[in-house]
Amino acid sequence: MPDPAVPRAPGSMPARYLFVSDIHLDPAAPEAQRQFLDFLRAQVAGPAATAPARALYILGDLFESWVGDDDVAGERLAVLAALRELTASGVACFLLHGNRDFLIGEDFCRRTGCQLLPDPVVAEIGGERVLLTHGDALCTDDHSYQELRSIVRTPAWQRRFLGLSLADRQLLADEARAGSRAHTARTIPKIMDVNATAVAAAFKAAHVRRIIHGHTHRPAVHDALAEGHPVQRIVLGAWYEQGSYLVYENGRYELRSLPR
Ligand code: MN
Repeated sequence: MPDPAVPRAPGSMPARYLFVSDIHLDPAAPEAQRQFLDFLRAQVAGPAATAPARALYILGDLFESWVGDDDVAGERLAVLAALRELTASGVACFLLHGNRDFLIGEDFCRRTGCQLLPDPVVAEIGGERVLLTHGDALCTDDHSYQELRSIVRTPAWQRRFLGLSLADRQLLADEARAGSRAHTARTIPKIMDVNATAVAAAFKAAHVRRIIHGHTHRPAVHDALAEGHPVQRIVLGAWYEQGSYLVYENGRYELRSLPR
């Protein structure tokens, strides 16, 4: 499903695409938020010498926690305003749900001008079909997480959850985060990485040679062969310690970090 919504590059302007994930914006980490807002201004809107990006793809976990589109007080208003400024300037902004912010909904999109995409989704980047996904669905070795995921992603669970008061939802989210931290602490790292069979199946099902995802917080470019063809899996980094993004320009991809 190529993305029809990305506008064509005008004239000779080279296409430039940016990808981020796992920014984990949190009022308790103001440094990361400041850096992300700087990133939006400097990298995305384009300094004077650089063309603005044609699109920014946020591949999930923009927020550390999101319990509903009514949870937008405080620092979050600045994030919403910065995204709105970005999309108003003509940069398309696409968003995938992460495991922390899968309750981002239509109201968020209306306020920011971002477009929510399904996960996974195939986008056309520089004439190539590329599979974009948050990445948690590829971590099939983590059975208890996958069980939780299959429950909280149902419309019925979400309707029930969103029917609770904002205070109750925030309380439950805090408890879930504590549970997630405990689970992460006692699970061996390999279990929380992608499963090779799930990755191979994703390449095959989407008929693509490139996958871009986040979630595992292990930024890297993995080259491999799938059924005799070279394939590439690019993993985005998290923003806990420093900024991290992927840029596509002049026909090539490059992972970059932003030291803090
Ligand atoms: Mn994640």
